[in-house]
Amino acid sequence: MKAPVGRLAPSPTGVLHLGNARSFLLAWLDIRAQAGTILMRIEDLDGPRIRAGAEQAALEDLQWLGLDWDGEVVRQSERLDLYHQALQQLESMQRAYPCVCSRKDVEQAASAPHAGEEGPIYPGTCRQGIADTSTATPSNYRFVVNSGVTRFRDRFAGDIQYEVAEQLGDFVIWKRDGEPAYQLAVVVDDAAMGITSVLRGNDLLSSAARQVQLYEALDLPLPQFAHTPLILGEDGRRLAKRHGDTSLRAFREAGVSAETVIGWLAWKSGLITSATPCSAAQLVADFDLQQVAPGAITWRGSFTA
Ligand code: GLU
Repeated sequence: MKAPVGRLAPSPTGVLHLGNARSFLLAWLDIRAQAGTILMRIEDLDGPRIRAGAEQAALEDLQWLGLDWDGEVVRQSERLDLYHQALQQLESMQRAYPCVCSRKDVEQAASAPHAGEEGPIYPGTCRQGIADTSTATPSNYRFVVNSGVTRFRDRFAGDIQYEVAEQLGDFVIWKRDGEPAYQLAVVVDDAAMGITSVLRGNDLLSSAARQVQLYEALDLPLPQFAHTPLILGEDGRRLAKRHGDTSLRAFREAGVSAETVIGWLAWKSGLITSATPCSAAQLVADFDLQQVAPGAITWRGSFTA
């Protein structure tokens, strides 16, 4: 088998926290253990959420953790033409349509039984070409999802299936602010960069199902997916501000070493038997994704618990 090509894809919307560190560590180990290539892509298309200096900070945090990458840093903000071409291709195939509905319109139109796990499902109001694009008002573009079951095999989460039309609905691929939405950009980039292996948090499983439909529509080769559980707080909820400051920066400033963080992550992930400080590089030789503990891991406020 050819050595895999993976990627680290931080969003410069804030500082990297423990949850990011876990996904990036596993992604890095998985590729390095197979002597593969790791590319670095900055997902800086989230307009108002992008913070000045956050890219540099994220790259520094990753270096501090001992996670390296190969080649130049790729920035999504420098690749708008590529995404636009994909949008045009989808439009010419009638798999994309302009949508003038506001978030509020969607909420009001979607009747209660139609609410999906990620909020209301788009009722398809503009699918029939209702949107008037002759005016200057910019519109979103949505992807026409296929009905039926979308299946894919996840190297970690197993066999996954979604009824994308029923459960998720036509999703936005281009935003009215003139930028592609995450779902389109990530597919176009992973294909263009020759990514063969995507490992990330399992909060993106339903996104993967959407992305599989985009890969098929654009006739692009599907990477292998692996979606791993998140880090939770003691209340069982996804790690967030209310669980204290778990940014890598804060730990570093408090004098915690990268080896302490990596050792804790490795212990909690079932890669080593105790919270012994170690480097990311020390974990490569024995790493096997199938050995990673299947459940979510809990942050109890200390690197020994
Ligand atoms: N930029 C995304 C994040 O930081 C990663 C998306 C992906 O890996 O597909 O959550």
